[in-house]
Amino acid sequence: MSHPTDGSCIFCKIVAGQLPCFKLFEDEATIAFMDINPVNPGHALAVAKGHWPTVDVIPPEILAAVAKTAQRVAKAAMNTLTPSGLNLLQSNGEGAGQSVPHLHVHILPRYPGDKVRLNWTYTPGDKAEIEAICNRLKAAL
Ligand code: AMP
Ligand code: ZN
Repeated sequence: MSHPTDGSCIFCKIVAGQLPCFKLFEDEATIAFMDINPVNPGHALAVAKGHWPTVDVIPPEILAAVAKTAQRVAKAAMNTLTPSGLNLLQSNGEGAGQSVPHLHVHILPRYPGDKVRLNWTYTPGDKAEIEAICNRLKAAL
């Protein structure tokens, strides 16, 4: 299978074997390796082999393959590291904190007392605003 690549992308270089990684797994469409700046022990990444920056441009079947690989790594992390929980996280665009514009899912084991902050507190929304945005999104699906 041939994949779109970007010569200046670090994940494309890892896929091509031009940069090293601590590889966990690979299949035709995906690769999983350890994050080199782990937020917590066991922090890993499930990565599309092809260069697609964000969720809106990647083919859906490749996104599904990345999800499958993320699940596989998550199960191994849960069974082996027995964390207290585990987040799957995928960021799109600088505003969402994406630093590598090549689609990937973080597999992030959580441990009691860790300082990772991903959760927000519940504040009930304005129903009219929720409904209006719902209608705009439905029209775009
Ligand atoms: P994001 O900020 O969601 O784009 O995540 C990019 C992740 O890639 C960060 O957690 C980085 O630590 C990680 N990363 C960057 N370069 C490498 C590398 N060479 N090998 C492994 N992980 C990397
Ligand atoms: Zn890339």
